[in-house]
Amino acid sequence: MASGIVNIRRDVDDKFYRYRMPLLTTKIEGKGNGIKTVIPNMSDVARALSRPPTYTTKFFGCELGAQTSFDEKNDRYIVNGAHDANRLRELLDVFIDKFVLCKSCKNPETELVILKIGRSEDIIRDCKACGERTGIDMRHKLTTFILKNPPVKIKKGKNKNTGDAAGGDGNADGAGGESDDELTKKIKAEAADLNTDAALAKEDWSADTSPEAVKQRVKALEGSLAATVLGGDDEGSDEDANSPYSQLGRWIEENRGDGAEDSKAHAIAIYKKAEELGIEKKHKTVLIVVQTLFTEDILTELPKYVALLTKIVTSEKHQKSLLGGIEVLVGLSHPDLVPAVPKILMALYQADVLEEEVVTQWGKHVSKKYVDKDTSKKVRKASEPFLKWLEEAEDDEDDDEGDDE
Ligand SMILES: [Zn+2]
Repeated sequence: MASGIVNIRRDVDDKFYRYRMPLLTTKIEGKGNGIKTVIPNMSDVARALSRPPTYTTKFFGCELGAQTSFDEKNDRYIVNGAHDANRLRELLDVFIDKFVLCKSCKNPETELVILKIGRSEDIIRDCKACGERTGIDMRHKLTTFILKNPPVKIKKGKNKNTGDAAGGDGNADGAGGESDDELTKKIKAEAADLNTDAALAKEDWSADTSPEAVKQRVKALEGSLAATVLGGDDEGSDEDANSPYSQLGRWIEENRGDGAEDSKAHAIAIYKKAEELGIEKKHKTVLIVVQTLFTEDILTELPKYVALLTKIVTSEKHQKSLLGGIEVLVGLSHPDLVPAVPKILMALYQADVLEEEVVTQWGKHVSKKYVDKDTSKKVRKASEPFLKWLEEAEDDEDDDEGDDE
C-alpha cells in the first residue's frame, strides 16, 4: 500500500497483473470555506487509465457533491472540501469499474467512444482486448460532462456551438455550481418565453393529444398486448441489480436507439417488457421509464411516448413517480435541462399525464425521495414559471362562469 504503484483493478491480488497505476495521492490546501483537496498525481493516474484527468476529477465531484476545478496547463486538479485519500481511491475504483473496465472481460484497455444514434448519444467502452463494446450507464452525471468534453481522439463534431474546452483556467466548472442569480435570470428569461412557447406547445400537441387520438392510441397499444394477470404488490428493491426494475431499466437502455425510427413500436415493446416482468402497473416503473427512456432531447421525445405515459401513469402516486423521474433526469443526468423544466411540465400537463393538483403540490414540497435536497430545490425553482402559469390559468377559468372543466 505504501508503494506508489497499485493494480488498476485493486481487487486483483496478482503481483504480475499487467495493468498498474500510481496510487492516488492528495494534499489538503486552504482552510475554512476555502479548504480544498488537490490531487497532485491526478494526470499520471488518469494517463494509466487512458482517460483525461478532468473525467476522474469531475467524477469525484459528482460522487461527493463537491465543486471541482482544473487548471490543465499547470496540471492542477482540485476537489473542493477536505477529502480523505482513501475515500478518493475507493471512488477511483468505482470510476474504473464504471468508465474504464470492459464490462465483458474486465480488461482496462478500453477507449470511450461516443455513439450518436438519431438524436440520442451514448457512450460506450470499446475494448481492445476482447473487442466487445459495452455501454456506460448514461444515468451517471459524469456522462453529461463527457458528452460536452468528448475524448480528444473522437473528433465527431457536435453541431452545438458550446465551444467550451475541458477545464478552462481554474474556473469552477459550472455544472451544478450555478449561482442562484444566474439561475433566476435564466428562469426569468424562460418565463418571458413561456407564453409563446406554451402556445406553440399547445398547437404542436393538439394534433397528437386530442382525447380521441390518445384513446385510440392507448386502445391500439392495449390491443396489441396480451392481457396478463398481475403479480403481488411488493415493489422490490431498486438497489438489487436483478430486480425487475433494474432489468427493465437495462433493457430500455440497451434497446434505445431503435426508438428514434419507430417510437410507437418501441413504446409497445417497453410496455410488453414491463408486463413480462410483472411491473407494468407499478408506480416505480414510471420512474425507471422516465430515467432511462428520455435523454436531453426529452422535449422532442415526449410527444412520441405520450401513449405509453398515459398507459402507465394511472394514479397520483404514479404522477409523483413521474415527477421524481423528471427530477433525476433533469437534476442529475442532464443539468443543462433545468431551464427546460417548465416546458417539460407543460408538455406533460397538456397531454393530461400530469394533473394540476399533483404538480402544484409537488412544486410546494421539496423532497429528498429521489434526489438530494439542493437538486430537488433547484428543479422546483425552475418549475416556477409553469406553476405560476397554471395558477393564472386557473384564475382565468374561475372567471369564466359555467365552464366547469
Ligand atoms: Zn473486453
